[in-house]
Amino acid sequence: MMQALVQQDSAGSVAPLLTVRDVSVVFGGIIALNGVSFDMQKGHILGLIGPNGAGKTTLFNCLSRLYQPSKGDILLEGETILKRPPHKISEIGIGRTFQNVALFPNLSVRDNVRIGTHARTNSDIISDSLKLPWVRKGEAEINRRVDEILTYLDLHDVANTVTAGLPFGTQKRVELARALAAEPKILLLDEPAGGLNHEEVYILGDLIRRIRDDRGVTVLLVEHHMGLVMSIADHVVALNFGKKLAEGTPHQVQNDPDVIKAYLGSKD
Ligand code: ATP
Repeated sequence: MMQALVQQDSAGSVAPLLTVRDVSVVFGGIIALNGVSFDMQKGHILGLIGPNGAGKTTLFNCLSRLYQPSKGDILLEGETILKRPPHKISEIGIGRTFQNVALFPNLSVRDNVRIGTHARTNSDIISDSLKLPWVRKGEAEINRRVDEILTYLDLHDVANTVTAGLPFGTQKRVELARALAAEPKILLLDEPAGGLNHEEVYILGDLIRRIRDDRGVTVLLVEHHMGLVMSIADHVVALNFGKKLAEGTPHQVQNDPDVIKAYLGSKD
């Protein structure tokens, strides 16, 4: 499966799906990111780690276009994403979830997931509610896709329940479903294990791997839970004080003396 996902350029080398090139972010006098570069290969799960204040969230927010780098570039399939406004990011294939879950609490699970499909259709909430003919034609396909994702993430039983009262772990799955409904090429996950118990983290790891394997989605994971990162990531990038400290396989990064030193000197 992994082989089929990887694209080679004419020289035979593998072209990255996403390139972070020399990205810096400065807030006032604080350098939150300082010339960070790395590539993400298609079909990989990339773990972004680092102690508190290392710059992970800042980089995540650059990838999802909430922050504009002061310097550098971010390329998706060779094209800069930095000219895209944040609300257009899902149209080019970048999906995200939020650390503290950002669902519409009074809408049902199904409607929350349905909202995700709008990145990939011509319809919007207003024309949907007016049931315009050109929208109706596409509705069957949208319903089919929403149903498929609800089943895939085991959410069918709560499809018509409003999300507000659902357990946190279920709400996180709904958010994942909404992100997947936009059919992203890259899924950015912001601390998905936060607030989950041991068993839920194990199930989540399995799910992220399945999403990559079954749906061909490349995943970037910002995560403090080392067990999760090291068990599912193909590639790990470690940051510290806004700079890239190390990158490589989980084994390489875990055994890197600079990474060990950075973590021993932090409260993580
Ligand atoms: P954590 O694991 O604690 O979430 P992090 O690796 O995500 O940390 P960032 O939140 O990206 O780190 O922070 C990197 C640096 O930038 C820190 O020194 C932080 O205080 C600073 N910083 C982040 N966001 C802002 C902001 N909006 N304004 C000013 N400084 C900021």
